[in-house]
Amino acid sequence: MQGLMQDWPLVLHTVIDHAARQYGTREIVTRSIEGPIHRTNYNEVRARSMRVAQALARDGVKLGDRVATLAWNTWRHLEAWYGITGIGAIYHTVNPRLFPEQIAWIVNHAQDRVLMTDLTFLPLVEAIADKLPTVERFIVLTDGAHMPQTKLKNAIAYEDWIAAVDGDFKWASFDENTAAGLCYTSGTTGDPKGVLYSHRSNVLHGLQASMVNTLAVSAEDVVLPIVPMFHANAWSLAFTVPMNGGKFVMPGAKLDGESVYELLEGEKVTFSAAVPTVWLMLMQHMQKTGAKLHHLKRVAIGGSACPRAMIDFFENTCGVTVYHAWGMTEMSPIGTVGTLKPAVASLKGDELLDLKAKQGYAPYGVEMKITDDEGVELPWDGKKFGRLKVKGPCIVRRYFRRENEEILDETGFFDTGDVATIDPNGYMQITDRAKDVIKSGGEWISSIDLENLAVGHPDVAEAAVIGVAHPKWDERPLLVIVAKDGKETTREDVLKFMDGKIAKWWMPDDVQFVREIPHTATGKINKLKLRETFRDYKLPT
Ligand code: AMP
Repeated sequence: MQGLMQDWPLVLHTVIDHAARQYGTREIVTRSIEGPIHRTNYNEVRARSMRVAQALARDGVKLGDRVATLAWNTWRHLEAWYGITGIGAIYHTVNPRLFPEQIAWIVNHAQDRVLMTDLTFLPLVEAIADKLPTVERFIVLTDGAHMPQTKLKNAIAYEDWIAAVDGDFKWASFDENTAAGLCYTSGTTGDPKGVLYSHRSNVLHGLQASMVNTLAVSAEDVVLPIVPMFHANAWSLAFTVPMNGGKFVMPGAKLDGESVYELLEGEKVTFSAAVPTVWLMLMQHMQKTGAKLHHLKRVAIGGSACPRAMIDFFENTCGVTVYHAWGMTEMSPIGTVGTLKPAVASLKGDELLDLKAKQGYAPYGVEMKITDDEGVELPWDGKKFGRLKVKGPCIVRRYFRRENEEILDETGFFDTGDVATIDPNGYMQITDRAKDVIKSGGEWISSIDLENLAVGHPDVAEAAVIGVAHPKWDERPLLVIVAKDGKETTREDVLKFMDGKIAKWWMPDDVQFVREIPHTATGKINKLKLRETFRDYKLPT
């Protein structure tokens, strides 16, 4: 027997409709690419996304067509997402930090028909435009007054483009499983892989992210998503915040410590989300200037492991609650969030920091398990580490245009490529990427644990650990360090700091100092590149 309730498809325009209806005058503030702070609200953003939908339809864009966006977090980018999906077309977020050849590859693979770009990326787009045969029109996310001369095909300023339609339009109707968004994984090896979100998965994920045990976004919140919309859906905030009526603060192109601090204070931000590298810049700014935070209550930190010292700074120096979170593009992206269950709520001091250094537990909608290499499930004892596998309605089933490749195991779980422990309370801790774990004498050493420990040293700004070939042990850890501005430290000093805090055989065999550690386009330490840099390096015997 079937239930007798209404069939109300979970499609994205219901989100912006709801935001306009219930929170219409709630503000959306952006540090615009042109410079000044721009203010709008949900009513206006909905009306303008309707114009985007109408203009796309007029240009012949149809259900299932891909529209690329190379853009920072701004109100226009938000309008573009809702407009594109409102006719059943697909927003394809392109990470502008990728190499131009990679961008061209991705746009071609996605067969994007329209490309929207911020002014910032116009030179980049112009340089590769003749390699993008599928793109019929380029839209520059600015107004007529700021529109530069360009030879791009059918180029038009966004404001002129949406001004040419009257806004009298209805959202298209389609099934909730219709594709809505496309995002390629950064893929340090092999071709990038496209993850194709549906309306249903985005709406469900937006709800999942809203839950009190997840990010707990409410109408009272002022939310600054520093994590870019081109990085795994801005961790769902583009859906979660309008669903819940939070005030939105969009950082545009400026993600440095001073600019972020200015927005946090100036707009009275209560919740923000970013990768550790961004928070590091804020921390350095605050430590240099003595600035304090007066409104911020919670921060989500993820994308790579959040160092313990950073958790300590936010929680104990600033009085800000840290949600350490883990996820991936393939998971829409949220997999776990480190909010507190009753079993751990009374932890204090170091014990609390130890718990917060874990990546948290899975919300409703994510099933998780760890297995050995043979697929045998491992216990949740907080000690055994194994391959982390996941299942849920917002998790990838196939990659785009690789539909004949099976990527789930026989039980329907997706192998994340991460290695983790899960403790008896369900808190998961990433010990490594499967390919970064250091195999010493048949045992595994977690590079992330060593990195976290090393950045706890007062003079260390950033640390990375890679495995280096060793004649007896196969591999041994090499610690690579960037010292804080104006600070000097030595190999001996760092090793002494680490000694006694980890098992003896985990201690790095050597420490090398560098000016900079390479990062990938999504802000993670680029270990592939680091290994190349140290290819000829020999451990001291
Ligand atoms: P991406 O798809 O670019 O978001 O990358 C996903 C990968 O980032 C995951 O599979 C993890 O390896 C890594 N990652 C994300 N969040 C964390 C975290 N909090 N701690 C450690 N690694 C993380």
